[in-house]
Amino acid sequence: CGIVGVTGNDNAVKLLIHGLEKLEYRGYDSAGIYVNDQDGHDYLVKRKGAISNLKAAITPDVHGSTGIGHTRWATHGGVTVENAHPQFSQDDRFYLVHNGVIENYKELKKEYLSDVKFTSQTDTEVVVQLVDHFVVTEGMDTRDAFLKTISLLKDGASYAFLLMDREQPDTLYVAKNKSPLLIGLADGFNVVCSDSVAMLNVTHNFLELKDGEVVTVKPDSIDIEDSEGNHVERKPFYVDTDP
Ligand code: GLU
Repeated sequence: CGIVGVTGNDNAVKLLIHGLEKLEYRGYDSAGIYVNDQDGHDYLVKRKGAISNLKAAITPDVHGSTGIGHTRWATHGGVTVENAHPQFSQDDRFYLVHNGVIENYKELKKEYLSDVKFTSQTDTEVVVQLVDHFVVTEGMDTRDAFLKTISLLKDGASYAFLLMDREQPDTLYVAKNKSPLLIGLADGFNVVCSDSVAMLNVTHNFLELKDGEVVTVKPDSIDIEDSEGNHVERKPFYVDTDP
């Protein structure tokens, strides 16, 4: 029900947890983070219940400079650690957080992923396994695989997505439809959040995303593309609230 992301800050874990705490007001039943230190180490931590449970599970070795976090409000699949996000692909390469609902996930699973080993009951896992399928089986690059996957979701789908690829550990792939998501421009790094309140401690400058756009966020760049693949220029707006 809430999404946060950070790329290019060695305190990513701290910023993600702070962000998730600020999003607690939206309601949730479980929470999780995935972080990568861009030096060959990555960590996935998920817990049922309060953010304080997640916090308690984060041991001192869990660190990274790029990462994603999620509070879940279960719609498909019970409240379990396996169903908490981030969801990941069967080869542990792709990690995804998702707010919303994918109505045609069963059809997509049947059509493309009949031999994939699933570890959750969520609609979300189908999306991350599909990205992996298009990259690994069909040789697409990650952004194209993400675009292709999104194009297969039924028009009614609602989503805010934040995707990471272990092989490009400084990059966040972002997309949304009928679900809020903002990019925040911080000092030397960038963030993503479903509500600016999650990241006001690091920036007041945010970029709005439009439905159907796909954004590639790195520590020093933000590349917005519309559904036709045209690059879009957009000025940030200032959020004038105290953290
Ligand atoms: N439909 C997804 C799930 O049940 C996402 C729910 C949410 O928006 O938190 O895992």
